[in-house]
Amino acid sequence: MAERRFVILDRDGTLIVERNYLSAPDQVELLPGAARGLRELRALGLGLIVVTNQSGLGRGFFDRAALAAIHARLAELLAAAGVQLDGIFFCPHLPEAGCACRKPKPLLVEQAGRELGFAPRAAFVVGDKPCDVELGRAVGAVTLLVRTGYGAATEAALEPAARPDACVADLVEAAAVIRGLLAGSAPRPAPRAGDAGPPREALILCGGEGRRLRAAVADRPKPLATVAGRPFLDHLLEQCAAGGVTRVLLCSGYRSEQIEEFAQARDRAGGLRVEVSREPAPLGTGGALRLALARVGAGPFLVLNGDSFCAVACGALWAAHARSGALATVVAARIEPSAEVGSLELAADGRILAFREKDPARPSALANAGVYVLARAALERLAPDAPSALERDLLPALCREGAAWAFLTDEPFWDIGTPERLARAEAFFARRPPARLTEAPPDDRK
Ligand SMILES: [Mg+2]
Ligand SMILES: [Zn+2]
Repeated sequence: MAERRFVILDRDGTLIVERNYLSAPDQVELLPGAARGLRELRALGLGLIVVTNQSGLGRGFFDRAALAAIHARLAELLAAAGVQLDGIFFCPHLPEAGCACRKPKPLLVEQAGRELGFAPRAAFVVGDKPCDVELGRAVGAVTLLVRTGYGAATEAALEPAARPDACVADLVEAAAVIRGLLAGSAPRPAPRAGDAGPPREALILCGGEGRRLRAAVADRPKPLATVAGRPFLDHLLEQCAAGGVTRVLLCSGYRSEQIEEFAQARDRAGGLRVEVSREPAPLGTGGALRLALARVGAGPFLVLNGDSFCAVACGALWAAHARSGALATVVAARIEPSAEVGSLELAADGRILAFREKDPARPSALANAGVYVLARAALERLAPDAPSALERDLLPALCREGAAWAFLTDEPFWDIGTPERLARAEAFFARRPPARLTEAPPDDRK
C-alpha cells in the first residue's frame, strides 16, 4: 500500500489569524475557510501536521504551559469544526540561536516524518512566508503559498526562482489544488510568473559515457559525434533556437573539456547562449539536471537527451504542456513496432500511466523520444548532489500522481546510441534542409 501523504501546515497566518507573538489561548482565531480546507484535505486521506517557529518562547514572551494552552484551544476550535490534527511541532528557539529546528531547516519535518511514518518529499507544505516555501523546497515537497497572513506580501516579494509551486487564496483553495494534483486533473496550480510562456531555457544531457558507441566514436563524447558533417549537438541547438529557446545549458561529465570547448565556440557564434554545467562525478540524468537547476530560472525547461533527436514541433509541444498543466510532458514518437525500445502506457486523455522497460516479447509502437518539457517543481524533487535517473527516480512518481503527460508525434526520431543507429541518423540529417546555426566568424564577436 502506498505510504500516507501529509500536509505540513504553518500555524500563524495560514491556519489562524496572525498576531504578533500570540501568547494567550483567547487570541486564537481560525482564519476563514481554514477548518473547511482542513476537512477537505482530510477527506483526501491526507495526514495533517502543523510546523511552527515559536521564538516567543525563547524571548520569554510566553512559556511552554501557555503554548500548550494555545494549542489546546486550537484543537478545540478545530474539533468543533469537525477536524483533528495529527500533531504540532514547534521550534522554541531564537533565530540567532542557530538551532537545527527553526524553519526553513527541515529537522522538525524529518522528525515528524519518522514519528508519523510519512515521506517529507511526498508531502505538501503550506504557509505564508518565504521560510515555509524554503522548508518545502528543502525537503523536496510540493509548496503552496496562501495569500492570508504575510502571504500576499511574500508572493509579491519572492524572486522567480524562489516561488512556490502554487499561490492560493486560502486553505480551501489549497485543498482544491492538492486534490487536483493528486487526481492529475484540474484544478491545477495557477501558472507561476515564470511559467507563463514557452521554455526559454533548455538543458541537454551530455554527460554519459556512450560505451556502446565507443567502436564508432572513440575520441569524443557521443553528443559530439559527427553527423552529416557537424557535431550531433549542433542539430539539437538548431532545434532549440527554432523553438524560441534563448539559452542552453549542456550538462556535461564524460570528457567535459570537449563539451566546454564546443559550448564556448557556439556561444561566441551568437543567437543562442550556450553554457556548460559540469558534474563533478557521474550523477546520472536526474542528478545532472538537479545540479543544473542552480543555474537556470523559473522554467519550464526543454530537456533533451544529447544522443537522440526528434523533429518535434516545439510550438505545439509548449501549447500541450501549458494546456495539460503537467509537471512533465514527454514526447512519445510513433515508430515501427520495435522490441528495442522501452514503451509508454497511456490513458485515453494522454496522461502517462507507466513507463515499461524494453521487452522482447512486447514490441512497442511508441518510443520515449528523449525530449521533455519539465517544470522546475518537478526537477526540484530530485535529490541534490546525489546520482539519480530521470526515468527511474522522477518520471514514475510523476506518472503515479497523474502529472506526466505524453505528447505524441509522427515526426522522425533518431538516436545515435549504437554505430548502426548513428549511420541511420547520418542518412537522415544528410537529407535535411541547411542548418539555421552558422559557425562563428573567428572571435570577432567577443
Ligand atoms: Mg506564518
Ligand atoms: Zn529551533
